[in-house]
This record gives sequence, C-alpha cells and structure tokens, in this order.
Amino acid sequence: MTVTYARDTPLADETAALDIGANNLVACTTTTGEQYLYEGRELFQRFRNTTREIARLQSKLEDGRYSSKRIRRLYRKRTRRRDHAQEALYRDLLERLYAEGVDTVYIGGLTDVLETHWSVETNAKTHNFWAFKQFTERLVCTAEEYGISVKVRSEAWTSQECPQCGSTDRTTRHQDTLTCPCGFEGHADLTASETFLRRHTEKAVRPMARPVRFEWDDHDWSESPRSHRPKEQRTDPSTVHHSENVASGES
Ligand SMILES: [Zn+2]
Repeated sequence: MTVTYARDTPLADETAALDIGANNLVACTTTTGEQYLYEGRELFQRFRNTTREIARLQSKLEDGRYSSKRIRRLYRKRTRRRDHAQEALYRDLLERLYAEGVDTVYIGGLTDVLETHWSVETNAKTHNFWAFKQFTERLVCTAEEYGISVKVRSEAWTSQECPQCGSTDRTTRHQDTLTCPCGFEGHADLTASETFLRRHTEKAVRPMARPVRFEWDDHDWSESPRSHRPKEQRTDPSTVHHSENVASGES
C-alpha cells in the first residue's frame, strides 16, 4: 500500500479477532467483513529444516562440547528469519486493520492456544517457532502506534465450534477444512477467528468478503495467487465502503 496514514486514532470503532497457528500464522476476521490469512507452511518448514540441521551438527560434536560457531550461526539465522517475517506480518496486518477502521483486536490467550489447538508434539515445535509471547508483546507495541488496542481473551472451543449450528463435539477438522454433519464446511482457522470475533463483539458483523491470502517471499507478505478473491470483486459496489475508509485515511 502506498497510502500513508496519520496514525493518531482509527477512524471508526470496528473490531478484529486473530486466530494464531503454525500452518496459517494468522487468520483474521473483522467486523467490516474482511478476512485475512497469512500462510506459514513454508516458513515453518524452513524453520524445521534449520532445526534438524542444528540437531545433526550437535550430534557430531566432540564429547564435552555443546555448541559450535556453525551451530550458533544457524540459531541466529533461524531467529532472524522468523523475527523478520513476524514483524512484516503485524505491520502489514495493522496497516490493513487501521484502514478498515479497527480500533480493537482480540487475540487468543497463549494457554488456551496450547491446550486446545494442537497435539503435544506440534505444540512444542509451534511454540518454539512462533514464540507467541514475544509475538503478542510486539503486536501490542506496534498496535499502539496505530491507536489500536489489543485484548487477550480466552478462545476455548472456538476452533471446533460450528458457526451454523453451534456444535463443538460433532465437527471434524481435516487439514484446513472444518466440517459439520449439519452441512457446514469452511476454512478451519478463518472460521475460528470469525467465531472468536462474534463472541467478543456486540457490533453487527458484516457479511464476509472472500478471504485474502498472503504468502511470505523473504521480503514481503504479498497476496497469494491462490487467494480466493477475484480482482474484479474489489470494484464490486457492495465493497465500496472499504475504499472509502482508505480514502478518508489519507493525510
Ligand atoms: Zn453444524
């Protein structure tokens, strides 16, 4: 985006909710009906490969030695790459949320995330990779610049809840898809962020536009070719209110 914003306070009192994971780093839903998905598969894969390489080098160390120059360099590289992608992510996300007039962001509590989202093994890997606590803290700091407040809330069950019938024990998740015997089928993480949002806002949530997917290319988060949103949808009259927000944000 090339528009620059006067970062005092957001222009409206819209709300957003984030679902955080490993395959999809952030799934976000806003009360303005926007959905964003930041894909993390490739980043996570690379993080895992570097971790494996570190383990391989460690197994070859002489007795009594615990590290080496090469190992330390790999650790630093792994951290730097993750931090770079994370920082770019919350900058990109906050710019978008600011443009949507969002002034409050709900984010799931770490304990909850660890308890309900993944298996123990995935947890260990994901926790290490994503560094939730650090991510949340930095998100809060950056959000302040935009006048957006971040609230940590329990998101227990939101990842399993069917938005159509409310069932939490009949739904099944297969990879990215959540299905329910009532006939519902949707993207699991986006659905979770929408359920989480509806739980914490009293505002009416506008009908959802097609989700926008972002991929990391080592420099930027750019819209994925697999993004479900066709280009022409952006000029659809029903979505005009979005561009109004952007325009009035110009300074
Ligand atoms: Zn259902």
